[in-house]
Order: sequence, then C-alpha cells, then structure tokens
Amino acid sequence: MSYAKFVASLIRANLGNINKIRISPSTCLSTVASPKSSQEEKEQQLDGCTVVQAEPLELISQTKDARKVYLDNIQIDFDNTEEAYKSKGNLELLRSLLVFHLCSVDFLVDKNKEVSSVKCIQPSMGEHLKYREGRCYSWCCVFQLMELTKNLLGQRVFEKLMKMTFYGQFVAGEDHNSIKPLIQKNQSFGVGAVLDYSVEEDLTQEEAEKKEMDSCVSEAEKESPGTDHREKKYKAHRQFGDRRGGVISARTYFYADEAKCDNQMETFINCIKASGGASSDGFSAIKMTALGRPQFLLQFSEVLVKWRQFFHFLAAQQGKSDMSALEKILELEQLKENLAQLGVGAKDDIENWFTGEKLGSSGTIDLLDWNSLITDTTKISNLLMVPNVETGQLEPLLSTFTAEEESQMKRMLQRVDILAKHAVENGVRLMVDAEQTYFQPAISRLTLEMQRKFNREKPVIFNTYQCYLKEAYDNVTLDVELSRREGWYFGAKLVRGAYMYQERARAQEIGYEDPINPDYEATNRMYHKCLEYVLEEIEHNRKANVMVATHNEDTVKFTLEKMNEMSLSPVENKVYFGQLLGMCDQISFPLGQAGFPVYKYVPYGPVNEVIPYLSRRAQENRGFMKGSQRERSLLWKELRRRLVGGQVFYRPVY
Ligand SMILES: Cc1cc2nc3c(=O)[nH]c(=O)nc-3n(C[C@H](O)[C@H](O)[C@H](O)COP(=O)(O)OP(=O)(O)OC[C@H]3O[C@@H](n4cnc5c(N)ncnc54)[C@H](O)[C@@H]3O)c2cc1C
Repeated sequence: MSYAKFVASLIRANLGNINKIRISPSTCLSTVASPKSSQEEKEQQLDGCTVVQAEPLELISQTKDARKVYLDNIQIDFDNTEEAYKSKGNLELLRSLLVFHLCSVDFLVDKNKEVSSVKCIQPSMGEHLKYREGRCYSWCCVFQLMELTKNLLGQRVFEKLMKMTFYGQFVAGEDHNSIKPLIQKNQSFGVGAVLDYSVEEDLTQEEAEKKEMDSCVSEAEKESPGTDHREKKYKAHRQFGDRRGGVISARTYFYADEAKCDNQMETFINCIKASGGASSDGFSAIKMTALGRPQFLLQFSEVLVKWRQFFHFLAAQQGKSDMSALEKILELEQLKENLAQLGVGAKDDIENWFTGEKLGSSGTIDLLDWNSLITDTTKISNLLMVPNVETGQLEPLLSTFTAEEESQMKRMLQRVDILAKHAVENGVRLMVDAEQTYFQPAISRLTLEMQRKFNREKPVIFNTYQCYLKEAYDNVTLDVELSRREGWYFGAKLVRGAYMYQERARAQEIGYEDPINPDYEATNRMYHKCLEYVLEEIEHNRKANVMVATHNEDTVKFTLEKMNEMSLSPVENKVYFGQLLGMCDQISFPLGQAGFPVYKYVPYGPVNEVIPYLSRRAQENRGFMKGSQRERSLLWKELRRRLVGGQVFYRPVY
C-alpha cells in the first residue's frame, strides 16, 4: 500500500477498529481551569506605577456577545510584585530565590563540566551545544550531578532535599491527588493548569540510540540501505538518536512497542478526563511521538516536504519564485504541461488529478490545493515520481510498507483520533506539542486533519508553531488560510521552540540547511509577525484562537498592546497565555488577576522519575532565558517589601 493511500484512508478513519484498543482505568489526572479569583481588583496603584485596569470578568467561551465587552485600555504592571506573588508564602519566595540562585552557581556549572569531561552523554552534538559562554548546557550533566547527590545522600534525604528545592519549585506533586491543592490555589488566583505527566524513562544513551534506530528504520531500508532516495534530514542518525540532548522545556518519548504507546495514550486520556472534570474550558497537552512508531512521522514528513518543494519548483517554472508561499498561484494548463514534460505520471493521471470539485475550476492552483492532492487517493498515482530539485532526477515520492508497519501506523492514527474524541466528549481542548523538524511536518499535518474534523463547531484541537523556524510564518499563514477556506476554527499555540541546539548541531553535522532563524532577534521578529497575523485573523472573523506560550515579557506586552489596538477583550477567550510551573509568576499571576485566560504547564510525577525534567529546568534557568535574572530581582523586591512592612509570616489567603 502506498503512503498517500494509507494516510488518506486513515484520515478518513474507519473507526470500527478503534474500540479494540484497550483503555484501562485512570492512573493520572489533568485539570485545567479558568475561574477567576474573587480577590481580583479593578484598579490598583502601588509604588507609583501600577495600573491594573482590566475588569475581572467571568470568562465566556465563544459567544458573540463577548465582543461587546471591550476594555478601553488594558495595562498590566509586571513590576507589581505584590500582585505577582500574592499566592506565595515567604518560604516559597525564599525557595524560588534559592533554586534560581543554584541554577546560576558557577561551582555547580563547573562541577557539571567535570562530570561531562569524564562521561558526557552526547559528545557528537558539538561544542556549541554543550557549552555556551564557557558553560556546560548539556542536560545530562545536571542529571548526572543529581544522580551523584542521590548516591551520596541516600534516597530519603535526597527526596526531601529535592522537594524543598528543585522539585518543589517546578513540579506539582507525585500524583493526581497530591497536586490538587496547588492546582486549586493557582486557580483561585486566576491561573489555570495544563497537566503534564513528566515522567521520563531512565535510559542510558546507548539504550536511547538503539530504541531510536530500531523504531525509525523501515524493513525496506534495512534490507537494501541507500536505495530509497531518502533525504538525510528525514533519516535516523545514531549520533543524534538520543533526542534528549540539547532540548529545553520538553520531555522525550522513545518507542518501545505498541503496548507502551497504548499506555501512554491512556495517560493522556486520563489527563483529558480530569481536565474536563475540573473546568468547562480546560486544556490537555499531548505529544505525537508518544503515540506510535516515529518511523511513520519521519517518512510522512519527508513526503510532505518533498511535495511542497516540488510545488515551489513548478512555481519557479512559471516565474514565481520570489513570492511568499500563499502568493504563488499557478496557471493550471501550464502546470499540466510542465508535469507532462517532466514525465511525472501518465498524461491521463495528470488530467485526473485536477478534475475535482474544488481543484481546477478556477483555472489556477495554489499550495493549499496542491497539498490537498497528497491524501486524495482517487487522483494521485501510487507510483508518483517527482524530480529531485537538486539533481533533476525523477525519484519515487512514496514508500511501501510491510503489513506490520502498516498496522503500527494505523494504530498511531487511531490513537490520535481516540484522544480527539475524548477531548470533545469531555469539553477539553487538546494541545498538540511541536517537536523536532524531522517529525514536525507530519505532526502538524495530522493535527490539521484533526482540526478539519473536530474544529467544526468550536476550537478543540490546537496546533503548535515554533517561531524559531525560518518557515514559521509560511506555516501559520497557510494553515490560517486553509481554516478560512474550509470554515473550521483555527487553534494555535505559539512558541519560540525548544530544540534549537539539537536542531543546529544535527543540521551541521549531517549536512543540511539549518532550519532555525539566524539569531535570537530574528526569532523574536518571527514570533511577533506570526502572532500579529493570528490576532488580525481573530479581529476579523473571531474563529481563530491562540495561546501565547512564552516567558518573554516583551512578547506578552506586545500581545496586550495589539489586543488594545484591536479591541480584543480578554473575556472573549480567544487569546490565552501559557507559562511553565515555577517560572515567570510575575507574568502569569498579574495576567490571571486581571481576568486574562492564563495557564501553567503543570508537570507531575514521582521524584526519581522527573529528574530528567528537573535537570532541564535547572539548565533553562541558568541565565539561558532572558527573564530569569529579572525574576530573581523581583522576588527579592517582594521579600524585602514584606519584611519591611512587617509581613514576616505572610500567608496567601484564598
Ligand atoms: C506553555 C509552554 C508550552 C510550550 N510548548 C512547546 C512545544 O510544544 N514545543 C516546543 O518546541 N517548545 C515548547 N515550549 C518551549 C518554548 O519553545 C521555548 O523553548 C521556551 O518557552 C523559551 O522561549 P521563551 O519565548 O519563553 O523565552 P525567550 O528567552 O524569549 O526565548 C528563548 C528562545 O528563543 C529562541 N532563541 C534563543 N537564541 C536564539 C538564537 N541565537 N537564534 C534563534 N533563536 C533563538 C529559542 O527558541 C529559545 O528557546 C513551550 C513553552 C511554554 C511556556
């Protein structure tokens, strides 16, 4: 069976088989809520500079009436430490200070360097990944240091120590019961939660590499390596097989077998159910790599990218190379002639591709029309050949699979579909996290197929766009345009991107173009450009929704400014904000207090099993992110204010 045929048949899923996947009782909980605190204040003046003018109102989902509730001028003071840390006792402030300080201590960093020089897990990732400004940034080193501490202190003391420090700061608790108090407390201060079960397998580098190679190489490839015309980028490479290296803000799944994927699906289902139980507008996050064999994501990504490259190649033949992706509108007759000249498919086939209801009637074809061919089995040949745009040689676009591989892929799509259905049933919105660029085209396309199906009445499925990518704007605009054309609700989470060092090192070593913007400023410009585009879309048709997922205060302020200009009210529930637990409370809590829908990604899991996650939090806070220095100074400011004001035993009231 060909790829296109296979994907198409699954996307129009015959879900008769889906019930066969076993779903066991809950093992975890996710809860997301957005009720606002009763303590919200309409206006507050502090230190001569605070103005929180936003009216705290009950959030309203998808109602047209909400459009009338404009706020004249939303301004939030992110220096207002009293507001920001209202939910925190003094001991919690001290813990935050201690943890952020430890993250920046040179002794620890140097210790990590020592550890790394003895046994650094990812030597192949290149110096620029491991060291930045002379410091070690490989997560594994922090991980090793934590392991070392555990061995020295013993399990019990280590756990206690972790709970008083890193774990207490960044993780909500061990299981769904123990996290409840924290979730409820945040909720009463206007901050919801996206639960994130953060347990990672404790694999050695060798085990991770083996799992990756076993799960990313097809049987056909194993039998005759090198004959498949696969691009280097979309192949697994042992030296980058351990995908945990050079990553921040994300946990990593490795494929073991189908039963494990079913278990991971159950975890997600339980999170969705719990989210639904906790509020009427909850979110749950999922990762596609947890749900099946990554080989499928790699190969499907390659097909999608090659197909898109082929369109650009054909556009260049019509003299349209310098336009943006959406502006390239090709003359159909000329396109057919070019395809015939290239020897791509039989003449009748080519004619048939463009005879559908939508395609061909206008006499032109754009990239969205072109993309729609990839799933349409009735119109595309199973043996489609496309020219390699570099060599000019015709190459087969699609691969074949063994029966077992086919069934594995089918189950992956079924799992995704099951999760979407649970989200609908539980009134929860599902956020699909973005991952590495060699998986992401497929992840994004599958998410889009879910949006087509489940976002008809309201936005249920949210895609994630990584603005550190050079192609981010094209990705966002194409998907928004598609949603407009087909009439479904666009839902997006905008992030800068978590895999920069890994992506750069891989591109450099394997030998393909770096997919990341050249510098931080370019990523910032890209983020704001994408965000502005989506906000304008919301302004015009109110069908789009966006989560501004960032710790960057400038970006949050930029969003508020644009919302003011466009008269977008927070109570419309179209623009959300997202931060990670334990980070940037000075952004999340003032937003929540002012009535904006704001959510924390809330990790949870047993101490030992979230160490990999914690080590990355430590790494991320080591001055890596622009905001961490500022957070420390605000924490000091608030602690001083309380002590001077006699609030030595301050306890949050809620
Ligand atoms: C709620 C939430 C959900 C998230 N979900 C995802 C997800 O699904 N997928 C994902 O990939 N990430 C995700 N992230 C992580 C996110 O992509 C960022 O890594 C992280 O938030 C830091 O970016 P920032 O905007 O918060 O902070 P900033 O400090 O403003 O930005 C740091 C980011 O800028 C970019 N950058 C830094 N230096 C350069 C450079 N020299 N050149 C180009 N770009 C550069 C990198 O992306 C880096 O992570 C999520 C983050 C949050 C808060």
